[in-house]
Amino acid sequence: MHLAAADLAALIALCRAEIDRHGAHLSALDSAIGDGDHGANMRRGLEAVFAERDSIARLPLPAALEKIGLVLVMNIGGAAGPLYGTLLMELGRGLAAQGCGEDFAAALERAVAAVARRGRSGPGDKTLLDVLYPVQAEIVRRSAPGHIAACARSAAQSTQAMQARRGRASFLGARSIGHEDPGASSCALLTAAICGYLAE
Ligand code: ADP
Ligand code: MG
Ligand code: MG
Repeated sequence: MHLAAADLAALIALCRAEIDRHGAHLSALDSAIGDGDHGANMRRGLEAVFAERDSIARLPLPAALEKIGLVLVMNIGGAAGPLYGTLLMELGRGLAAQGCGEDFAAALERAVAAVARRGRSGPGDKTLLDVLYPVQAEIVRRSAPGHIAACARSAAQSTQAMQARRGRASFLGARSIGHEDPGASSCALLTAAICGYLAE
C-alpha cells in the first residue's frame, strides 16, 4: 500500500464523510456498551482534521501524519482520542525516522504496538486493536485493498463475541458480549474508506 502526500486532502475528506455518515451508528454501538458518544467524538476529530486539510496536505507525508495525530488527540477526546492520535503520530514519526527507505508496513507495526502500550491492551480485549492487528498483518502480506477492507469489517464483527477487558465496556463484564465494539467499528470504517480510495 502506498500513500502519497498529494492524496491526503482527498483521503481526509473521504474519512470525514464516512464518519459523518456513520456517526449515529457508532454512537448507538457505544450506547449499548459505553456512554454513547463515540460517533460524536469521531465526528469532532475528523471535522477538525478536515478544517486543516489544506495545510496538512502541504506537509511531507510523515509530518502530515504526525499533525493529523495531534489534531485527533486534541479533538476526539475520550479514550479513543489518545489512541487514534498515538497511531497517526507514531506512524508519522516512524516514517520520518526511516528517511527515504520508507517501509509503511514496518512503521505501521510499530505504531500499532504504541497504541497497545498506550491503552495497555492487546488482542481479544474488544477494542480498536482487534481491527488494527489484522489490518496491519494484511498490509505486511501486501494484500489487495479490497481484501484488507473486508478483513477489517469481519475483524470488527468478531468483537461481538468478545468480552471487553479495557475501556468503559469492561465495566459491563460478560454483558459486553454480543455487541460490536464502537472503536473497532470506526476503525473498520476508516480502513475501508482509505482502501476504497487506494483501490481506485
Ligand atoms: P470513551 O469510552 O471515553 O467515551 P469513545 O467512546 O470515543 O471514548 O471510544 C471508545 C472506544 O475506545 C472503545 O470502543 C474501544 O475500541 C476504545 N478503547 C477504550 N479504551 C481502550 C484501551 N484501554 N485500549 C484500546 N482501546 C480502547
Ligand atoms: Mg464513549
Ligand atoms: Mg465518553
